[in-house]
Amino acid sequence: MPFRFPLPRFPIAPDFLRASALIMPLALALMVIAPASGADVTVAKFRLNVPGAFCFTFDDALPTQLIYAAPYLDQVGLKGSFYLITNNVVDGAAGSPAIGKATTWADWKVVADSGHEIGSHTLTHRDLTTLTADVVAKELTESGAKIKEKLGITPVTLAYPYNARNAAVTKAMLQTYIAARESQVGYGSEPGMANTVAAMNKFLDDAIAGKKVQIGMIHGLTEPYSPTDPAMFLEHLKYCRKLVDDKRLWVPTFGTYSRYRIEKDSVRIVNLPSTLPHTIEFRAESPLDSAVFNVPLTFLYKIPDLPADSVKVMRANAPVPFQFNGELVLIEALPGPAAITISWNASSDGIRAILPGTGRKDGKAPGDLRLINGQREPMKKGLPTGPLFGTQPAQSQIRIP
Ligand SMILES: [Zn+2]
Repeated sequence: MPFRFPLPRFPIAPDFLRASALIMPLALALMVIAPASGADVTVAKFRLNVPGAFCFTFDDALPTQLIYAAPYLDQVGLKGSFYLITNNVVDGAAGSPAIGKATTWADWKVVADSGHEIGSHTLTHRDLTTLTADVVAKELTESGAKIKEKLGITPVTLAYPYNARNAAVTKAMLQTYIAARESQVGYGSEPGMANTVAAMNKFLDDAIAGKKVQIGMIHGLTEPYSPTDPAMFLEHLKYCRKLVDDKRLWVPTFGTYSRYRIEKDSVRIVNLPSTLPHTIEFRAESPLDSAVFNVPLTFLYKIPDLPADSVKVMRANAPVPFQFNGELVLIEALPGPAAITISWNASSDGIRAILPGTGRKDGKAPGDLRLINGQREPMKKGLPTGPLFGTQPAQSQIRIP
């Protein structure tokens, strides 16, 4: 029986273009009558506006991924993406993976239930660029159908066997998946791959320094082909965890990263007029299927009149989780028809009366301090602080004696 995925509606659909043609003049008209906000709402490149991103991807459904990789990821609280050659996975009990033996669906179910991504590495691991279109389609769709049948989840991403692809293969892939891994940094003993902790950690540092995403490709951890030492890998994961805790690195599954990237690239932000002072309102419209594209985006808004406090973010009469780092509001929300309102109190006039020209009581530049319950706290430069996306505690206004 042919398997059909709930295909995402991609943004090139004619009805989306027609909608744009109607909404654009309206949006332009609103910009004219909207009060000048001094800034626009944008979407962060990566969740929480951290500088870099990294995804762990594992190929070929190898036993040591079950013995070491998934448990180690669980130990440090990170998630990875496991790409199965579905014809190599067998029925059978969970819990006894061994090198030289096929892995079982029951074992991969445990991995999936821990929150890791299961993706397709095709049925048989043949080079898709050498196959007819019909065989390519079968390799892509039937592997996805098998994962759906055995694990009850619809895979959304793919790793090409041998990373081999061409335009026709990529086009066929997008009939069934939202994305495939198209660039990677390799772990293991092959030339050019990382097989020391320092080399592995450099992948993460490079993602941060380059403000980019890097996709790590891992095979077995002790199998003969290009192994990665398990103890080194665990040490590397602990370093990765620290970068995540320091809010320097985002480590989603490749599927979550791909959803975020596609949503970010297709969302349209419509600024709405607000007659209230110190208030802006916007709507984030997405042409994508929200059943598949369900990863919240991080919206950024730089408050124009600083210092500000009592920041509030609302949507349909309900508070929306956000962070405020002294000048930048970070809001995590799904696109949708309901408008989001950001409001704040601007207390700059009174403060300038005390320290003319500085804008602050302490004379420091805005942005290096923030207010929580009226107390100033130092923050890490340029990054959000405080509890991860809890709604801000009530903030008292600065009172001028
Ligand atoms: Zn492979």
